[in-house]
Amino acid sequence: MIRPILTYGASELETKSSPITQFDGQLKTLAQDMLETMYAAPGIGLAAPQVGVNLRLIVIDISGGERKGHQIIFANPEITEQEGTQKSEEGCLSVPRFMAVLERPGRVHVVGQDLEGHPQEIDAEGLLARAFCHEIDHLDGLLYLNRVSALKRDLIKIKIRKLVRAGEW
Ligand SMILES: [Zn+2]
Repeated sequence: MIRPILTYGASELETKSSPITQFDGQLKTLAQDMLETMYAAPGIGLAAPQVGVNLRLIVIDISGGERKGHQIIFANPEITEQEGTQKSEEGCLSVPRFMAVLERPGRVHVVGQDLEGHPQEIDAEGLLARAFCHEIDHLDGLLYLNRVSALKRDLIKIKIRKLVRAGEW
């Protein structure tokens, strides 16, 4: 089921999410719904708070569903190592219509669990590393807007306020 994606201004997006302790059918349904919602958007990553659930669950597919075997589901993901930097334009389904250039680690090592609660880990670089950093930020109540310059952030916020006033946000 496709769920509505919350946009900037929703309190769930600025709340630190809780660790997942119940690896049950409800969690599997949430993960499935998040994948459907991400592909429909379309996007390459989604975190549970974006659909209003403050649990530490993320889904990523940097192929956007174009290639098999790119689907990633992580419960309780944590970056344990990072290396280098990359600078590139980043957007977010919860901040539609805007992009900003952002520095992220070039490579990350992520540990967490699958939907059964079994441990899993992954080495990611490039766009995939960026996606993990972005989605894990969501679990900590951070939007990419929190990581751009104050000037850029204020510009985007002013534009969003205008959209809100126009009833377009
Ligand atoms: Zn996002």
